[in-house]
Amino acid sequence: MIDIDTKEVWFVTGSQHLYGPETLEQVAKNSKEIVAGLDNSSEIPVKLIYKDTVKTEEEVASVMREANNSTKCIGIVAWMHTFSPAKMWIRGLSILSKPICHLHTQFNAEIPWSEIDMDFMNLNQSAHGDREFGFMMSRMRKKRKVIVGHWKSDRVQKKLGIWSRVALGWDELQNLKVARIGDNMRQVAVTEGDKVEAQIKFGVSVNGYDSSDVTAKIDEVTDEEVAELLGTYEKDYALTDSLKEGGEKRQSLIDAAKIELGLRKFLDEGGFKAFTDTFENLGELKQLPGIAVQRLMADGYGFGAEGDWKTAALTRAMKVMAYGLEGGTSFMEDYTYHFKPEKSYVMGSHMLEICPSIAAAKPSCEVHPLGIGGKEDPIRLVFNSPEGAALNASLVDMGNRFRLIVNEVEAVAPEQELPHLPVARVIWDCKPDLEVAVTAWILAGGAHHTVYTQALTTEYLEDFADIAGIELLVIDEDTKIRSFKDTINSNEAYYHMFQHKM
Ligand code: MN
Repeated sequence: MIDIDTKEVWFVTGSQHLYGPETLEQVAKNSKEIVAGLDNSSEIPVKLIYKDTVKTEEEVASVMREANNSTKCIGIVAWMHTFSPAKMWIRGLSILSKPICHLHTQFNAEIPWSEIDMDFMNLNQSAHGDREFGFMMSRMRKKRKVIVGHWKSDRVQKKLGIWSRVALGWDELQNLKVARIGDNMRQVAVTEGDKVEAQIKFGVSVNGYDSSDVTAKIDEVTDEEVAELLGTYEKDYALTDSLKEGGEKRQSLIDAAKIELGLRKFLDEGGFKAFTDTFENLGELKQLPGIAVQRLMADGYGFGAEGDWKTAALTRAMKVMAYGLEGGTSFMEDYTYHFKPEKSYVMGSHMLEICPSIAAAKPSCEVHPLGIGGKEDPIRLVFNSPEGAALNASLVDMGNRFRLIVNEVEAVAPEQELPHLPVARVIWDCKPDLEVAVTAWILAGGAHHTVYTQALTTEYLEDFADIAGIELLVIDEDTKIRSFKDTINSNEAYYHMFQHKM
């Protein structure tokens, strides 16, 4: 479902012929050692591939062309071991279509005080070589991540790991197909957007399907498949009595299992790794897909309810970034508030579709009326979510650009049991506090739908926004409303003036 093993990040070292072959041999040797060291780091999940030192304009252009054409290469890490006059980088950088990270490091950590001579000075020049390179990327308005520090340090390796995970998510978007089963929830604004622009900007392709495309697949489902899936439900979740074999609502669970199997077939045969549905376009589907969507999300599929294709794509991209990390990632909605004089909280949830990757314990599997949509009572997984640091991310279409809004939050335990709440939920404390966070969120036009994650931090979304060349607004501990308004205003002008190249 998430393919990480075939992907590569290419490490390109810049130099020039000025220093002679001996220095260049040492440059290559040192670069190989750095690549081997970084490749061994548990922080960096993607294979790091050493590429020969580039010393001329043609060598730079050639490796960039190769990177563009490689389906394995998800990004370039560039480092100038020596000075590398940056005019020779113009042609290569102007054609590069993959994300780039500028690793501003040095082979040696410390100055060898008693031995340092002019040969050493000629060899270890990244302190100024990387500035020349940095100027060119700034001069070309090239978006990139800059990481400063010694390559062996945990901090540097962590940052490179974050960037490579984001590059993985970006690579995923280039190939992502989102199936919209049904259209948008009628009259809803924020879940709409320009799908053509999204494909130009993010690579993601979004196309419409009908619930009958899913019901056709449900018709192909066999009794054996249903029986096996019911066994999985019984093993993985705490079924309420009415859903157990012989229970009065058992048929609802069977119907839900058929919906899951049909939906899975539809997605897999079509090559869709993200999808939307909407309770208003269910056609012959007996229930709004609840447990089906929850379990598909847990397997890594992106999802957005009510036709929300932007959140579906973002959920998928963030699940790819978070692959193998601790903490879950889910479609989410700000649902209701807990206003208290001393401190206020948000309860996040949805009608059904919260991903069990954020479940604190074994979910209970229940059936309850939905109250809207006029279909049969849907099966859903109900659970609380663990405490701890998290964030909500929302992607909106501002008409002339996409805007990504991030709010850092702290998930907390519910104050009391919630015996009558029939949906999965999370209670969180917004940074800096609910009043400022939500004021900023609403001023930014942030959606009610988000991607909620305990696996990723703001740095991932910042790298993502840079790679995509989109606006990022972060609401965190330091947010002040007046300066937040100023940022929105200046961004209006900035994004009006510049069309971003990655
Ligand atoms: Mn919703």
